[in-house]
Amino acid sequence: MLEKSTNLNSGRQLIDPFDRDITYLRISVTDRCDFRCVYCMSENMTFLPKTSLLTLEELYRLASIFVDCGITKIRLTGGEPLVRKNLLWLIENLSEKMGNTNLEEITITTNGSQLVKFAADLAKNNIKRINVSIDTLDDILFKKITRWGILSKVLDGIKAAQDVGIRVKINTVALKGINDQEIPSIIKWAHTNGMDISLIETMPMGDIDGDRTENYLPLSEYRNFLERELTLTPSNYNTGGPSRYYNCQETGGILGLITPLSHNFCADCNRVRITSTGKMYMCLGQNDSADFNKLMRSGASDREIIRLIHHSINLKPKSHDFRIDKYNNAPAVDRHMSVTGG
Ligand code: SAM
Ligand code: SF4
Repeated sequence: MLEKSTNLNSGRQLIDPFDRDITYLRISVTDRCDFRCVYCMSENMTFLPKTSLLTLEELYRLASIFVDCGITKIRLTGGEPLVRKNLLWLIENLSEKMGNTNLEEITITTNGSQLVKFAADLAKNNIKRINVSIDTLDDILFKKITRWGILSKVLDGIKAAQDVGIRVKINTVALKGINDQEIPSIIKWAHTNGMDISLIETMPMGDIDGDRTENYLPLSEYRNFLERELTLTPSNYNTGGPSRYYNCQETGGILGLITPLSHNFCADCNRVRITSTGKMYMCLGQNDSADFNKLMRSGASDREIIRLIHHSINLKPKSHDFRIDKYNNAPAVDRHMSVTGG
């Protein structure tokens, strides 16, 4: 039987050595996925052995302790979070914590392929916002980018989520020579359909079949191209993350630019990440990690886990080391984005 975690809030918030308040936990619930996006994975991936994954009960215990330490927002991601078996159990249990603990919000980042099936249950469990990744609205290009995905299924999934009242934000990876010409119409499509959208630069994480530098599009420069069609003015909207937001005059919608490479915003970083195997990475672009799997499976008490959380937050680095140019085309970190959770 699962023991509900008692509130062991030490009264301390999670504040790192650079005075950043860590309130946001991203959990990669699986590194597996039903797509194979070209910038994210190679076609033949070797995934983590299932025995090394934390069980959902272990993930719940760990997340609960983080909440007791001051985490207010949890994002479930992956890999594709909705392919993890029984994920709804974790969502149900975490959602019971909202309103009576520090936890204020649970969100999900998904490729949308399973949303038709899950949207109603997500809404029932207090999921009010999700991010869905779409890099093109062209069926054939969608298949090329995701290798295994079907665009119409994702669009049906978005509609299913909106029909049950979930707010959808679109994430689009900007890919030079692939979707750069189409992005203005993707922005208009998102805004016309009541969705905000963020553009993301490719990050050098994990080996893929090709070379990412070919498709790297620095968004700081790309903005000039966008502004030929759209009038963008800086917005006060802020999620405490790496995105900078702009109001788009023509559509009335919000556009986020996530520019970890061309302009890094590490000074505002408020997050840490847990992998499906229970490793905590203090920074997406660095290799330092803390192993909660080993600690939990050795029978550690909640207090020992809290001690490791505080110890690790004290080691959070000032910034990542990502660089991507013709001299730096190897991955900056070996693990794929799907392991740490994008
Ligand atoms: N499968 C879900 C999805 O695609 O939304 C969640 C996990 S995915 C790793 C999270 C986000 O990371 C997606 O928006 C995806 O496009 C982005 N992503 C994956 N690999 C990336 C990379 N190397 N650089 C930049 N973004 C990446
Ligand atoms: Fe899967 Fe998301 Fe990576 Fe695409 S970006 S392969 S959907 S984890």
